[in-house]
Amino acid sequence: MAEHIAVIGAGPAGASAAHALCSAKYQVTVFERDDAIGGRTRTLRTHGYHLDTGAGFITNFYPRVMTAAQTLGFDDKVRLLERVTGLHDGKRLARLNVGSPLSFMSFPLITWADKLKMSAWTSALTLKRSKLDLARPETLCTLDHQSIAEYARHHLNERIYQHLIRPGIEPFWYFSCEEVSAALAVALTAHAAGAQFYFVEGGIDQICSHLLAGSEVQLSASVSKVWLDGSQVRLETQDHQSSFDGVVVATPATAAVSMTQGAWQQLALTANQQTFLREQRYAANVHVAFRIPRLAKDPGVNSVFPTGAGPRDLAALSFHRRKGGQRDDEELVSVYLSDAESRRVLNDSDEQLAEHTYRLAKRLYPALGDDFTVHALFRRSEAIPLHAVGRYRQAQAFHADQDQAQSQVTFCGDYLASATIEGAVESGARAAKALIGALSR
Ligand SMILES: Cc1cc2nc3c(=O)[nH]c(=O)nc-3n(C[C@H](O)[C@H](O)[C@H](O)COP(=O)(O)OP(=O)(O)OC[C@H]3O[C@@H](n4cnc5c(N)ncnc54)[C@H](O)[C@@H]3O)c2cc1C
Repeated sequence: MAEHIAVIGAGPAGASAAHALCSAKYQVTVFERDDAIGGRTRTLRTHGYHLDTGAGFITNFYPRVMTAAQTLGFDDKVRLLERVTGLHDGKRLARLNVGSPLSFMSFPLITWADKLKMSAWTSALTLKRSKLDLARPETLCTLDHQSIAEYARHHLNERIYQHLIRPGIEPFWYFSCEEVSAALAVALTAHAAGAQFYFVEGGIDQICSHLLAGSEVQLSASVSKVWLDGSQVRLETQDHQSSFDGVVVATPATAAVSMTQGAWQQLALTANQQTFLREQRYAANVHVAFRIPRLAKDPGVNSVFPTGAGPRDLAALSFHRRKGGQRDDEELVSVYLSDAESRRVLNDSDEQLAEHTYRLAKRLYPALGDDFTVHALFRRSEAIPLHAVGRYRQAQAFHADQDQAQSQVTFCGDYLASATIEGAVESGARAAKALIGALSR
């Protein structure tokens, strides 16, 4: 009989691990705390809309996800998303079509000298792109010695940092560039030339649902404890215990710590691995989706981001109309707050939060009008793992220890790669491979 593996968490990392294990002929049961799959790629289907509650797009520099779309047969759902962004510096809205040299050349918020400098830097990095893989921390270690802010101020200049680098990072990851490793920005810039963005028609959670097709999935099954019992790994959920030949823990780091730390000695986790798991921090995010009367004038952009110096309360305003499925009389818009602002208002009432968030969005884009209905509201205290300076080096060491340990319990998640679907998918495949290696000793 096939060995039976449990995967904890049905986000992209867990789904990818489950897929790799099923492909290697293991029997797989996935335990998911929520009442739906997807994790931070969950899609909400209400009022005739498919709202991606967390991640909303994939790119042509996500080779693993793009390959999965082809091999699992949902590539017909992967649709090009024209990525025209509006950057608002408090005085005007400047348009930038990411990946278009022409649009870059007419971008008004930086000088010609800045453009030349940025182009030279981007070209140099483009040549190195095959060696810079956001999903594999070992390729990023040499860049992991200073923050994005320090790196950009040193290699570029303050204007480029404020108007191109920060808006290329903070509206998507919500954390501050002062806090996060330069490796993330450098690897992204290496893939910027010719970058294309895609959404998944009908909902981005289809990536997970296709990857999970061969597994048994138990929803509303929150795992509280994992430990070794002889040659088996035992799990405890709210209503029962069960035994498996191996386990992949594919939850955010905090949940992974809480369910496994009593067994770290048994599982032979090294001191470095324990510290790495315990010290993982996250950026928070509040996302409110509003239905508003259809705007008379097409905004002509997918998103509006604030730009310029200083802290940000609002991270991004996104119009969903380019993703299709909209009604003639109304439209869906999403507003995402920065980490700092999300933390500040995380415990406010739904009503306060919606009012406040809409007010911030209107300040950025006054044409929104006064009439809105809250479509959905998401509060995440752990939205995005902080890839603080040094974390990529530590993640590499974690993987090396995991590959060597031959343990029946392995770990994955975006915190062990980069906070992207691609990173999570790669980390899931790696954890499955390490587990298969251990089981076939
Ligand atoms: C607002 C937002 C926007 C984003 N936008 C993008 C984007 O456009 N493109 C992109 O590539 N990435 C984006 N990301 C990042 C991307 O969503 C994540 O990197 C990715 O989902 C991480 O996958 P994961 O499997 O590691 O974790 P998750 O997706 O968080 O999955 C972990 C799963 O574990 C489950 N779980 C937790 N505890 C337990 C327990 N005790 N028992 C059982 N199950 C448990 C959770 O419920 C969850 O389903 C975004 C994230 C956010 C929050």
